[in-house]
Amino acid sequence: MTLNIRPEIAAIESEIIDIRRDIHMHPEQGFEEHRTAALVAKKLRSLGIHVLEKVGKTGVIGDLVGKYPGPTIALRADMDALPIQETGDIPYKSKNKGVMHACGHDGHTAILLGVARVLSEQKNFLHGRLRFIFQPSEEKDGGATYMIDDGCLDGVDEIYGIHLWNYSKFGEIGSRPGAVLAATDSLKILVKGVGGHGAMPQGTVDSIMVSANLINALQTIVSRNMDPLESAVVTVGTIHGGDNHNVIASSVKMEGTVRAFSKKISGQITDRIRQIARGIETAFGATIELDIESGYPATVNDPKLFEVLMKAAGKVVGDGARIITPFMGGEDFAYYAQKVPGCFFFIGSSPKGLPPGTVPHHCSHFDFDEKALLVGASVLLELVEIRSVIS
Ligand SMILES: [Zn+2]
Ligand SMILES: [Zn+2]
Repeated sequence: MTLNIRPEIAAIESEIIDIRRDIHMHPEQGFEEHRTAALVAKKLRSLGIHVLEKVGKTGVIGDLVGKYPGPTIALRADMDALPIQETGDIPYKSKNKGVMHACGHDGHTAILLGVARVLSEQKNFLHGRLRFIFQPSEEKDGGATYMIDDGCLDGVDEIYGIHLWNYSKFGEIGSRPGAVLAATDSLKILVKGVGGHGAMPQGTVDSIMVSANLINALQTIVSRNMDPLESAVVTVGTIHGGDNHNVIASSVKMEGTVRAFSKKISGQITDRIRQIARGIETAFGATIELDIESGYPATVNDPKLFEVLMKAAGKVVGDGARIITPFMGGEDFAYYAQKVPGCFFFIGSSPKGLPPGTVPHHCSHFDFDEKALLVGASVLLELVEIRSVIS
């Protein structure tokens, strides 16, 4: 594997890793990133970067204004952690009970601060402006939308987003033109029947039996209604109903998720869910309440920016720059990419010696290969240079 870590990044390796570990030890959940945001703001200010705090509640924006006119390029990191108790035995283990950086957002913040440090030293050669976006609450509530509402994309010509990725080998950079991550919709279902004696079903409407039929029917949406060349998922993830073995349950609650790569497809699926629910109601005499909430839209990469990324990634990781198949996960970077051309990419970070996917994201012993921070930062530097912002 050819790896060309930029020398300016290699020179600050320990600083980048120290920042990552500091943030890892002090994780904060969405919209509570006060310490993290203060750390980011302090660091940016020390680099002579113009800082705006409390953007999108707890987000931070840093603007590095160049000497010459030119485009505004935004680079985005997320700062939030997850409600997970860390179980791994590492020297920089979380000090906050029940909260953990289990997705790598600590690394994203460290990467972006490293890139800001290097670029701040090249201010006199900079054309245009670089905007460093540190957003809150990616894992829940879509912190990106709060940042956008507070104007973080004003004047921005293009935006890039990063994600460390343990499902890819260290030394790989993956992305694709078009949809790269799915649109997510969440589903709440309440089936209301008529309870009664378990031995005398006459006169009852068994909500458990109705739910069983509903789940089966929902699972025909992807297999029977969708174009087989489209990708979609309908998952019923929870089901709760009944208290006694000999009582017919009067109600059942279920929750689920719908994933697709376009609003059109997710709209078709949710329409079909409603139709099926009405049909099952009629067939069994039950009432089915549906609460379908739109989550993050699909993350769609601009094809031109994707080309730029592949060029930049190629300089750092050679043939480790890969076009990947899209993932069914969701990302609120999607909101930025709806407003301005954007490109989101994955930085292979599978821990040393372990096959990709062995240490999954959102697990309580999550960790990643910290050398991936240098890879990610180097790719961002190359990106900025390709966009001719430095000369
Ligand atoms: Zn995550
Ligand atoms: Zn994440």
